Amino acid sequence: MRFVPGFRAPAAAAPDALCFGFHAGKMLVKEQDGRLAIPALADLHALGLPAAWVHYFGQWDGRPCCAVCLPPEPPEPAGFAWRGLRGLFGLIAEELVWAAGRAGQLVHWHCNHRFCGACGAPTADHPEERAKVCPGCGLINHPRVSPAVIVAVVREKRLLLAHAARFPAAFYSVLAGFVEPGESLEESVRREVLEEVGIRVEHIRYFGSQPWPFPDSLMVAFTADYAEGEIRVDSKEIADAGWFAADALPQIPPPISIARRLIDWFVCGSA
Ligand SMILES: [Zn+2]
Repeated sequence: MRFVPGFRAPAAAAPDALCFGFHAGKMLVKEQDGRLAIPALADLHALGLPAAWVHYFGQWDGRPCCAVCLPPEPPEPAGFAWRGLRGLFGLIAEELVWAAGRAGQLVHWHCNHRFCGACGAPTADHPEERAKVCPGCGLINHPRVSPAVIVAVVREKRLLLAHAARFPAAFYSVLAGFVEPGESLEESVRREVLEEVGIRVEHIRYFGSQPWPFPDSLMVAFTADYAEGEIRVDSKEIADAGWFAADALPQIPPPISIARRLIDWFVCGSA
């Protein structure tokens, strides 16, 4: 791992610190010799961009990394560009994109917790831990992580794939959904699959997990076997669903996602 997470900065903000600066979900990147790079704090100072919040969150190859909240409607300076995180895959090192994902989640949290949810007073950064504290009533808020389950359901060498109405492209993927308060992860898997396609599943097994910073999810992946029922699509969330053999898959998600790792697992197991 080239990225090492941390809370306490080793020294005062170094000018060569990497600056993961966000505004409205987009990150400021530097264009250098036709390639993209993460700007340094010194670049930000040179541009005269005032940062609303600078938060140390680890090191990349020994260089401090800061999550930075940039001001509203900042200009796009010459030699720099605003990019969404998804648009950075393939253009900068993948581990650096995931480090940017951490920063994006922290900035998103900062932007949405500047005021206390209980009494409305402006919050401050907690000195001892990564949290916002309210000087008025003492309420403490840690960065929010929203767990979601994602599951590959297999029935006689066929994989359940669905096209969700919210998908930006025409691809099909495994089912996923947010965990509800009070649910175990396994209960969440059973409920999501039953709600979305009317299928009951059994033999739920843990597969792996992946942070998904759009904006603050943690995807927890499972595999499961079909138990009973026929596909009955909940047309609000799911536009179409079906059972697909490994050699007849529709368009599937790109390799960065754990959804794709689940599909690749199914394909390997069917070979
Ligand atoms: Zn308060």
